[in-house]
Amino acid sequence: MSGDPFRESLGAFVLGQLGEPERIAVQAHVDGCPACRAEVADLRPAVELLGLADPSRVSDAPAVPAGLGESVLARIRAERRPRRAPRRAALVAAAVLIAVSAGGIGYAVGRPTAPLEPVAVAGSAPGVSARAALVPHTWGMEIKLEATGFTPGRAYRVLVRDRAGRQSPAGGFVGTGTVPMTCNLNSSVLRRDAAGFTVLDAGDAGGAVALAADF
Ligand SMILES: [Zn+2]
Repeated sequence: MSGDPFRESLGAFVLGQLGEPERIAVQAHVDGCPACRAEVADLRPAVELLGLADPSRVSDAPAVPAGLGESVLARIRAERRPRRAPRRAALVAAAVLIAVSAGGIGYAVGRPTAPLEPVAVAGSAPGVSARAALVPHTWGMEIKLEATGFTPGRAYRVLVRDRAGRQSPAGGFVGTGTVPMTCNLNSSVLRRDAAGFTVLDAGDAGGAVALAADF
């Protein structure tokens, strides 16, 4: 199983954190790779437990902080004992509890282990004030966007541009006006391939650019 390039993507895959092109690629591989299929089957119960964690206890919105899933899965992999299936469920449950509490604390103090890369942003929409930082992941790149001034109730979508000029979706949000918003946006473009991102007014027929960043 070592050397299987898809293996490191399985955690993000079962957590639903992959962008669509990568998700399809991993699904296709899992369908044809018994080792990865077994791994996915092992990880699912832990992911279902993670879904039971109460997101309202985390001040800052995401149900599962980006690094948490991987840390849970790393513990599960480390503690796994082949051919001793009955012990595994207990180990998985313990690993999830440890990782949820550890991840929760880490998140509350700003996740010091995650390298944040601040990037300059330029607002094109009147009244928009924003700052952004990037988090490189093995599965892609996360944009942490803090902003005010996006029109309340209006939908915006975010695209990441790679060095070849291709645009990949990185999710979207609804404007909150003068209320500060903190938004974590995930894309399947790796940091080393990413050249910038744009925030587009999704309600506008022309998709007007409301915010842009070039790295
Ligand atoms: Zn595989």
